[in-house]
Amino acid sequence: MTVTGECFCGAIQYQVRGGLANARSCHCSRCRKVFGGAASAFAELADLAVFRWTRGEQNLRRYIGASGWGLGFCRTCGSALCGLHRGKVVGVTLGTVNGDPGVELTAHIYVNSRAPWDHIDGTIPRYAEGLPEQSQGSD
Ligand SMILES: [Zn+2]
Ligand SMILES: [Zn+2]
Repeated sequence: MTVTGECFCGAIQYQVRGGLANARSCHCSRCRKVFGGAASAFAELADLAVFRWTRGEQNLRRYIGASGWGLGFCRTCGSALCGLHRGKVVGVTLGTVNGDPGVELTAHIYVNSRAPWDHIDGTIPRYAEGLPEQSQGSD
């Protein structure tokens, strides 16, 4: 599956060949700052997926935190487009995907850190902290 996405102003566009995986919504305080809302909506690149910028990469700003994790955002409109690890794109923000990303949120994570005004609805699993390690196949 090929997924495309772009920022709010359209200056930056990307393509992911091979699809996305592990879509989740993180309610930690850092994600709230990045997304300016209750939580993130983020998916990793699937195994073997290939990410590339198709327009405006020169307009991308990279913020790298102390841990080596970071994000890329549009210097014009501020949209957060991707997650970075050691300079490489490791996933995309679901809100910047055009149309159906081929994945749905499968977990709320770091719900113990959620904002006092955050009300989490829905039936997908909630985790106090991060996703459990590789539980696939064992449940
Ligand atoms: Zn933009
Ligand atoms: Zn988070």
